[in-house]
Amino acid sequence: MLDFSFSPAQEDYRCAVRQLALTELLPRYQSGDANQAYPADQVRRVLAFSREFWAERGEEPNLVSVGITAEEVARGDFNAVLTALGPTYTRLLLKEAAPTLLDRWLPGLTSGDQIIGLCLTEPGAGSDMGAMAAAAVRNGDSYVINGIKNSVSYLNADVFYVFARTDPEASGWRGISAFLIPREAPGMSFEEVEDLGCRAVPRGTLTLEDVEVPSEWMVGAPGQAFAMISHFFDINRAIIGLTCIGAAMQSLDETIEYTKNRIVFSAPLASNQAVSFGLAEDVTHLELAGLMCYKVLWMRQNQIPCQDYGAMVKWYAPKMAVEAVHRCLRLHGHYGYSTELPHQQRLRDIIGWQIGDGSEEIMKMLIARSRFGRATFDGNVETGRRQS
Ligand SMILES: Cc1cc2nc3c(=O)[nH]c(=O)nc-3n(C[C@H](O)[C@H](O)[C@H](O)COP(=O)(O)OP(=O)(O)OC[C@H]3O[C@@H](n4cnc5c(N)ncnc54)[C@H](O)[C@@H]3O)c2cc1C
Repeated sequence: MLDFSFSPAQEDYRCAVRQLALTELLPRYQSGDANQAYPADQVRRVLAFSREFWAERGEEPNLVSVGITAEEVARGDFNAVLTALGPTYTRLLLKEAAPTLLDRWLPGLTSGDQIIGLCLTEPGAGSDMGAMAAAAVRNGDSYVINGIKNSVSYLNADVFYVFARTDPEASGWRGISAFLIPREAPGMSFEEVEDLGCRAVPRGTLTLEDVEVPSEWMVGAPGQAFAMISHFFDINRAIIGLTCIGAAMQSLDETIEYTKNRIVFSAPLASNQAVSFGLAEDVTHLELAGLMCYKVLWMRQNQIPCQDYGAMVKWYAPKMAVEAVHRCLRLHGHYGYSTELPHQQRLRDIIGWQIGDGSEEIMKMLIARSRFGRATFDGNVETGRRQS
């Protein structure tokens, strides 16, 4: 009735990607942070490996396989994950894009030669996306877009997925449309911010001043973009959860080895139950969180509504990952506090994704709304979401 196993091909894939992550990504994870250098070659390497692996088996990777990529790549480099997830993931992000747009962007995005930046957040609209002020005004066969998008990850992107209001009469989640706009479009300017973590991925502000785009660059139907992106977020939250879990599991593996060998008071650190029980708790929490994340991906694969489960893993998995990595850092004593070891970087990286893609409070709002009923939350939380 219940089967919690990966398929034999997925199991082979998981082992192979972990091997690649530990041998080819992990060694440059920390220099990427120190030099604020995006791991372009590493992302291309993962994408090429995945492509060949699944092509040899004549299979398309399904969503669970994408989750495996996220978890295993994050063991090597947290910042290489989101752009290394391949065509299955990118097609979901651009699910309603016209074939001409897919022909233009998909090859580069899925080979790693190009990057996409998602532009929703604004100075006056973060958790409350419905407060979005960026406006796209129809002008014949084109739209003219004005607005400020801040907190854009991958500010180094080649194409920006920009959300703006096309219906000035509409409010909240209604009347928002999305456009794919190439970096070189006239009227776009960029300003980076200095971040605590995820420093290999530039984040910052994209300002659009009279950016004129052909109407064919719109993704999906006019005014329907909020529901479209919310549908993507449900599974992206599981992907982010698995990314945080992968990084934390790697810290745990390293810490278990360390505490077995570190002699304190004439005995291995791990021989103290205060040490081993704490790590045992972290492993338990992360295993549970991982099961939930894969369940979300499996639910979407089987067209089962999963928005509340997506919200659950988005707050739970990063929180458990933060606690685990923080313990790993502490168990390494002063070595853990230095930048020589990767735990501090994993902690900084994971904390970012406690906020990005929706904070803990907003996730709990979504869960509460699904359990208490919409009436309790109408007028407070946006409701324009799809059910599966
Ligand atoms: C690492 C990182 C990457 C990101 N990448 C992107 C990106 O690529 N594209 C993009 O568009 N955005 C991105 N973001 C922005 C992110 O989505 C927003 O930061 C997030 O939605 C929260 O919005 P805000 O920062 O404006 O906080 P606010 O909405 O101002 O909220 C501030 C705090 O108040 C809490 N809060 C808000 N409302 C309530 C309430 N009703 N009840 C209780 N608590 C509440 C929130 O949980 C949060 O903790 C990224 C952020 C980070 C940190």
